[in-house]
Amino acid sequence: MLTRPLISRASGRSCWAAVRKALFSSSAARQADFTHTVVGGGVVGLAIARQLAQRPNTTTLLIERHASVGTETSSRNSEVIHAGIYYGPSSLKTQLCVHGKHLLYDFCEKHSVGHRRTGKWIVAQNDVQREALEGIHRLCGEIGVDVRWVGEEEIEREGEGVRAVKGALDSPTTGIVDSHGLMMCLLGLFEDAGGVVAVNSPVESVTPLGSGTPGSSGWEVSVRDGFSGEASTITTETFINAAGLGSVDIHNSIVPPEQHKQLFYAKGNYFSYAASTHSISRLIYPAPEPGAGGLGTHLTLDLGGRIRFGPDVEWVDSPEDLAVNAGRKDLAIAEIKKYLPGVDESALVPDYAGIRPKLGKRGAVTAGKGFHDFIIRKEDGYEGWINLLGIESPGLTSSLAIAERVDGLMYGSVKE
Ligand SMILES: Cc1cc2nc3c(=O)[nH]c(=O)nc-3n(C[C@H](O)[C@H](O)[C@H](O)COP(=O)(O)OP(=O)(O)OC[C@H]3O[C@@H](n4cnc5c(N)ncnc54)[C@H](O)[C@@H]3O)c2cc1C
Repeated sequence: MLTRPLISRASGRSCWAAVRKALFSSSAARQADFTHTVVGGGVVGLAIARQLAQRPNTTTLLIERHASVGTETSSRNSEVIHAGIYYGPSSLKTQLCVHGKHLLYDFCEKHSVGHRRTGKWIVAQNDVQREALEGIHRLCGEIGVDVRWVGEEEIEREGEGVRAVKGALDSPTTGIVDSHGLMMCLLGLFEDAGGVVAVNSPVESVTPLGSGTPGSSGWEVSVRDGFSGEASTITTETFINAAGLGSVDIHNSIVPPEQHKQLFYAKGNYFSYAASTHSISRLIYPAPEPGAGGLGTHLTLDLGGRIRFGPDVEWVDSPEDLAVNAGRKDLAIAEIKKYLPGVDESALVPDYAGIRPKLGKRGAVTAGKGFHDFIIRKEDGYEGWINLLGIESPGLTSSLAIAERVDGLMYGSVKE
């Protein structure tokens, strides 16, 4: 049963009409207001909502707490289409990143979303980093991802001032994408497929219904309008938690205390680069450090060719601590100088920051100690709940593959 209107401030009108239309135009006999409810309007929630909305005779609601979709982590990242070379041979991160990369390139071409296959060099300055590169090279052989060693002469000739004392690996399938354009496109396709979006609607509680298995009679989702403070409640047959930095709070509000989880917040600060002296045509990453919380302060490009450096790893206590920490500029410069000795320090300007929703304090790479894979699962002991936790990098690259997986888990084509 739907109580009170959900307000869509993005369009300045009540969602009530759209919600009612969605409810009454469906021919499927059901008691819940919606077939699917996705909480979280980031790139992952949008991709899932768009995928599920394509199922015939179903209705899908996407709930977002802010006034528009895509304002948290999905718009505060490096916008890199990763090749899938960091996360061990059998992880979900590898599987979904490699598949998601292909889906994303095809999607961007089909729907004219801005993107570019820039390629990337991963560079080593010491023996430990060289070993890391060799590990990546071996892994790529195993998982069938293209990489090649760049010869010394090529580094000298084509390297555009980049230093790689112990070698470089070229990843030709790495690229960049306009993350905002991608999300607007997913939103448009979702709405075209009949999906309903409720913005300004922070979810306050999620309750499984049913006297037997929780969720067997659906779910009740309550939100409070961000402007008016009015409460709304809907019921849904299935519930998908794709709330990014808010996902663990939702998880913990449903499960018993012994199953509670904790999120750790790893802020990544970015610095833009105003110098015109450097023209760099590809992305440059330092070889990953085992156990580090990120991939190292790297050089990325936007679609206009502008250079930015970041993100570093700064552990913070709050998911709202999004101010760039300008005090970390010297640390960033020290890291950048290792692979770009000619960098003009005075041209680095604090730009923006994003926060990684991490399930542990270490291990961004490989499936070894401290590594946390994506959690994307049908929750045991409940019916109709797909839970997504720890969707850090490469979540943007993987988003379309994650959506396929959620659809498969829900409709039975993917077994856990
Ligand atoms: C610094 C950094 C760099 C990165 N670089 C890359 C990269 O180059 N390539 C790559 O593939 N990935 C990258 N990532 C990872 C990628 O950005 C994320 O994996 C992806 O954006 C996650 O999307 P999401 O939809 O799960 O989360 P989000 O974008 O955070 O969306 C979740 C949404 O849920 C909403 N929400 C939360 N709680 C509630 C609630 N109670 N009620 C209603 N709504 C709620 C939030 O407002 C938010 O809009 C990077 C991440 C960071 C932090």
